[in-house]
Amino acid sequence: MTTTWLGVDIGGTSTRLLQMDASQQWSGFRKVPTASWASQADALGALATLIAESLETQPTAGVMLGLPGILSRDRQHVLSLPFIQALDDRPVAAELSEMLSVPVAMDKDVNHLMLWDLLQLPALPDNAVGLYLGTGMGNSLWLNGKFYHGQHGGAGEIGHIPWADNQQPCPCGNIGCAETLTSGNWLSRWAAQHCPETNLSQLFSVHGDHPDILSFIDRLAKIIASEMNILDPEYLILGGGVLAMPDFPLATLQQKITGHLRPPVTRSGLKVMISHATDHTGCRGACLAAQRQFRSA
Ligand SMILES: [Zn+2]
Repeated sequence: MTTTWLGVDIGGTSTRLLQMDASQQWSGFRKVPTASWASQADALGALATLIAESLETQPTAGVMLGLPGILSRDRQHVLSLPFIQALDDRPVAAELSEMLSVPVAMDKDVNHLMLWDLLQLPALPDNAVGLYLGTGMGNSLWLNGKFYHGQHGGAGEIGHIPWADNQQPCPCGNIGCAETLTSGNWLSRWAAQHCPETNLSQLFSVHGDHPDILSFIDRLAKIIASEMNILDPEYLILGGGVLAMPDFPLATLQQKITGHLRPPVTRSGLKVMISHATDHTGCRGACLAAQRQFRSA
C-alpha cells in the first residue's frame, strides 16, 4: 500500500485539494468555493468533512493546509485570517487532526508556492525571498535553508510596512500600509474609477503607460528593493496573479528594482526568477511540505 500526502490550499475564493504519493505522482485534484464550507455554522466541521472525502480514497500519512493569514510561530494556531473568520483565532491543526485521526499541519499559503518554486531550482539555495503579488502582497522568506516565520509568526508581512503620506485604511486594521496602494486590490479600484469599460485583464495592455500605473510599478520596485537591501538573498522569486497579467511590464520592474539595490554585491549578485504558478501550484507545494513534515512519521 502506498503512502500519500494531502495538500489543501485554502484561498479567500477557492479551496483546492490534491494528493501526492512517494514518487510524486499527483491525484484527486478537487476545487470548491471556500464559501461552500466557510459559510456554514460549523465551518471547521464542514472543512473536516471536505478533507475526509479525499482521505477515503487512499491511506494518507499527513495533511498540510495552506492559509492566507498569520499563524502562530509553531503553526498550530490561526492568529489572524481576516478573509475566513470561521477559522480565526483557533487551534485549527489540532482540531482537524482530532476530527480526522490523521496528522495535520499548516503554514502560510505563500510558503507553499515558494516551496514549489524553490524545488524547481537546480539546488535548494540558502537564502531566497518570494514576492507574490495578487489581491494582496504575498511574501515568503527562506533564510539559512528554511522558512523564517518570525518570533510571533508575523514575518514576511512586507505589504504592511507604512508608506509615506498614505492615509488608506488596510484590512489589517492599520492606516497607510504599502499594500493599500500596491496590490491587485488597488489595481481593481483604480480601474473601476478610471476605466470601467476596460476588462481588468487588459489593464496593462491598454493603460500601461498611464502615470498612475507607472507609479504603481515604481512603488512595487521600491518595496521589493527595500527587502533585498535588508536580506541580500541569492534568489528573488517574483510571481502572483498581477505579474501574470498580459503585458505586465516585468522588464521595467526588474530594472527599477536593480536601480535601488545597494552596490556592489546585492546589485550584481541577485538572481531573479519568475514563478509560473498554475491553479495546482499551491496545493502541490502543500503536498511537498506535508511530505517533508511527515516523512519520519
Ligand atoms: Zn495592513
